[in-house]
Amino acid sequence: MTTVGVMQRDTASAEFFAGTARGELLVKQCGSCRHWIAPPVLYCPACGSADVAWTATAGTGAIASWSVVHPRRGLTSQSPTVIGIVELDEGPWVFGQLVGTTPGSVTSGQRVAVEFARPEGGEAIPVFRVQADAENPT
Ligand SMILES: [Zn+2]
Repeated sequence: MTTVGVMQRDTASAEFFAGTARGELLVKQCGSCRHWIAPPVLYCPACGSADVAWTATAGTGAIASWSVVHPRRGLTSQSPTVIGIVELDEGPWVFGQLVGTTPGSVTSGQRVAVEFARPEGGEAIPVFRVQADAENPT
């Protein structure tokens, strides 16, 4: 199991986690100009409209930045976790654990695709799987 924390639903995130439970990665999108918005805001920063709604994305993108999180001392059975900032193909940046990779092999620009982890007792949360070498030529 990973070191991803158990996330709990609140009113601000309920719709987001309803999406992850369905296997959809939702990002707010402006209903007026279709601008994709992250992190969630009440008004569209591009056109000022209040008509912003959670909208499913393709869940694919590229690694913009990443950080290696080492397990706490004493938890020797756990390996380091890689947390990335992913630029979705729709444009917004989102945070998530990078899976299917190792800390030494992550590079910016690598293609990733969303998957959903389900920590015991928690909501489904998005993680990003680094895609096979064919999609990530070196
Ligand atoms: Zn807008």
